[in-house]
Amino acid sequence: MLQNILTFLLGSKHERDLKELVPIVQKINELEPMVMEFPDSLFAEKTAEFRDRLERGERLDSILPEAYALVREAARRKLGERIFDVQLMGAVVLHKGRIVEMKTGEGKTLASVPAAYLNSLHGKGVHVVTVNDYLAERDAGWMRPIYSLLGVSVGVILSQMDNAQRKESYAKDITYGTNNEFGFDYLRDNMCWSPADKVQRGHAYAIVDEIDNILIDEARTPLIISGMAEDDTFKFAEVNKLVEQLVEVQKDPETGEYPEGDTPTVGDFKLEEKNKRVTFTDEGMNHVESLLIKRGLIRDSLFTDQNFEYIHYFTQALRAHKLYAKDVDYVVQDGKVQIVDEFTGRILYGRRYSEGLHQAIEAKERIKIAQRNRTLATITFQNYFRMYGKLCGMTGTADTEAQEFAKIYNLDVVVIPTNRPVVRDDMDDVIYLTEEEKLNAICDWIAELHTKGEPVLVGTISIEKSETLSRMLVGRGIRHEVLNAKNHAREALIIADAGARGSVTIATNMAGRGTDIKLGGNPDYRARKKAGTQAPEDVFRKALSEEYEKWQMDYREVKGLGGLHVLGTERHEARRIDNQLRGRSGRQGDPGSSRFYISLEDDLMRLFGGENIKGLMSRMGMKTGEPIVHPWLNKSIERAQKKVEERNFEVRKHLLEYDDVLNEQRKFIYQRRDEIISDPHLTERIIATGQDLFAEVLEAYKKSGDTPQGRIKTLLAALKESLLFEPQNTPSELAKMSAEDLEGTIKAELRASIESKKADIGEDILNGFIRFEYLRNIDSRWQDHLENLEALREAVYLRAYSQKNPLLEYKLEGFQIFDEMLYDIKTELAKKVFRVRIQQAPAQPAAAPHSTAVMQASHNAMGQFAAGGSSATNAVSSGAAPAFGGNGGGGASQPQAVQVKRTVPKVGRNDPCPCGSGKKYKYCHGR
Ligand code: ADP
Ligand code: MG
Repeated sequence: MLQNILTFLLGSKHERDLKELVPIVQKINELEPMVMEFPDSLFAEKTAEFRDRLERGERLDSILPEAYALVREAARRKLGERIFDVQLMGAVVLHKGRIVEMKTGEGKTLASVPAAYLNSLHGKGVHVVTVNDYLAERDAGWMRPIYSLLGVSVGVILSQMDNAQRKESYAKDITYGTNNEFGFDYLRDNMCWSPADKVQRGHAYAIVDEIDNILIDEARTPLIISGMAEDDTFKFAEVNKLVEQLVEVQKDPETGEYPEGDTPTVGDFKLEEKNKRVTFTDEGMNHVESLLIKRGLIRDSLFTDQNFEYIHYFTQALRAHKLYAKDVDYVVQDGKVQIVDEFTGRILYGRRYSEGLHQAIEAKERIKIAQRNRTLATITFQNYFRMYGKLCGMTGTADTEAQEFAKIYNLDVVVIPTNRPVVRDDMDDVIYLTEEEKLNAICDWIAELHTKGEPVLVGTISIEKSETLSRMLVGRGIRHEVLNAKNHAREALIIADAGARGSVTIATNMAGRGTDIKLGGNPDYRARKKAGTQAPEDVFRKALSEEYEKWQMDYREVKGLGGLHVLGTERHEARRIDNQLRGRSGRQGDPGSSRFYISLEDDLMRLFGGENIKGLMSRMGMKTGEPIVHPWLNKSIERAQKKVEERNFEVRKHLLEYDDVLNEQRKFIYQRRDEIISDPHLTERIIATGQDLFAEVLEAYKKSGDTPQGRIKTLLAALKESLLFEPQNTPSELAKMSAEDLEGTIKAELRASIESKKADIGEDILNGFIRFEYLRNIDSRWQDHLENLEALREAVYLRAYSQKNPLLEYKLEGFQIFDEMLYDIKTELAKKVFRVRIQQAPAQPAAAPHSTAVMQASHNAMGQFAAGGSSATNAVSSGAAPAFGGNGGGGASQPQAVQVKRTVPKVGRNDPCPCGSGKKYKYCHGR
């Protein structure tokens, strides 16, 4: 009631939206006569003039009327179609960064052109996003003549294109492509090794066609790029064989400690059990070197940049053998090494030790060291599209999802009226008791329409159901076409002809989407078929004019028969998708009709219909074989659909809440990567980190109560261990210095040591080396991190049983492991650069661990009802495991009883480190 009064006073939201648009359209209309006088050559000049005006500070809004008038005229000249006023309204809405709902067949492809053109004037690129490659190519080609006349360039991104072609297409003023390609290119750009390899140039403005499909249906699963990690499994296996030959430094039998001070040490390595670290003695390093040379794994010094990584393999192998115990630190289950949480004793299913320790343990346990197919990068569509400076979209059906668009994307929906009133007759649903009865009734109805000659478009919710129906129609001898969204190009042609007299077309939800169905068939398609696909233009033209004449008669005939009938064989989970199907009929004021057939055995009815509908049915006296038709039932079904819609919204919101954590981290990492890719002075970062590490050592030095000599010795040992760095000054010289002098001296020497490396091989080579190592480090740690976060996600679900908020736990722990990762990346790299002797130019970007060839990009489509884990439809179609499968956390396998012993006293990760450094345990010896 209140709503009615308010509507009466203020007009509905829709009316208010339209009122704002009318004056703008009037302005454009006023300019029309003038623009019609323009010679063709003036169009591009106008474009140049607009760009100029923008440079000088004018705003797009003030250029809009002229620009739109210009596009309208260009379309009239090039396509013979004058953009309708309602299309201009839609175009204004798109420019405003909102969603426009315009029914199927209203000409959204053309309506997006003025907006794309206007927004391209800034020169930052416009992306027009379509649902499949076929449409991207079709739309770009279809609109190209208009853009050409206007003097703006158009490109297309197709899935089989290589990087060079992609880059070229992205460089155009306007780029058409699919959501998947845009998303994957973004991820791939952030895996590349030099700025020149990037293909995209920012995310300024995107127009998303069929926006409900892309931002809602497809948004339940993320985009994933997966691939094989660098194959170093044989190195783990080799080193595993050699490691037993290394000898631990002998301990003093009296103290049980390693000898200190000037006592000579015998042995290769020392262990620090408390913090699970291994350090090599000089002798140990030599021993490792000779073992490797003997085995033929290296030829010269261990300390060259190519051989250096063996220290890492040996370190991990030693840790695996000496410091990590089976059934204490980890367990072996089903041929897998599973980590045991050191604090709780719980098995952390799916979590892996990082930096190769996991593989080293696998080698030790003689389990197959899996060369894993792993997630290299991932993003949700929500977070991809939220990056655009301005986002807008169009679809025939957005209004039912307006709330989600507003909440998640901050996008407002504006409904534009049709150019001509819709006269389609939407009949009430017919309901049967069983599916069999329903299908029989459907076939009867199709047969009747077919005999009459009225075309029928039959919509099903899955490929299987299409096939069942097809078999039944074959049994009755009714000719028909079946579409299942496999070959978009072929299907577009078939569906274009679905309005021909007597045609019967069965399609699943997505098949042929984006293609318009004309009553009487498609003259263009027929002419192409008649003339042959390779026919020269004039032959085709001739065929077209013949077909066009015939078509006009056919059109009138089919119109007389009642137009296209849309038959829904089942209600879809979302009302929106039913509306899409209906919308295929009754375009541009054509006659048409639609009806849905339902049985109580349908998934929607079984799972969500509830007792409500059944009760209603029996009260109405439903009998076997007799359908029921009643408006009340439509209402109940709609309620059931709303329930599913709400649930799916929850699933997507949930996915997003978790992805938001990852998203912040992803942005941070990608930004860091960008800085590194283009930083010509990376040595400065290394020096800074080296000095930081020294500062940590110095803190301990200041606090230590030892004699000056003893303190210096510890300090030098720590420096040597972490940075393999030995100052020029003797220990006794250093011992005499004040703390400040000591700090100054060593910091200067640290810098000098890097400067001398720079002088030896040249800054470019050193910089290239650091960049290569940095990126490799970031990428592999980030990939570990993605896996860890995923495992964490499952783990926090289990905690929900102990009254903890899983999302909060996920956030806290997720950021903690992220921080640790950043610290590790930085320090590991600095240590390496200080220690290594670089001999040669770094590996070329081509040697980057993941070349595009071995990467797979995947996006799992979700079927109906998939998110709830019901048995209704197969949920996940393609190979890769979904990182965020939507059905939270069910994946962990059942824990088996495993005995876990604890030997190490418990130290909380945020407690002060027992070494007395004053730092938190996790940042000191807890690493
Ligand atoms: P939508 O995407 O809204 O379903 P399309 O962009 O596929 O619609 O266009 C449907 C049909 O309408 C196309 O055949 C197109 O040529 C035609 N069309 C679009 N705009 C106009 C117009 N202003 N005048 C005449 N025909 C038009
Ligand atoms: Mg379209």
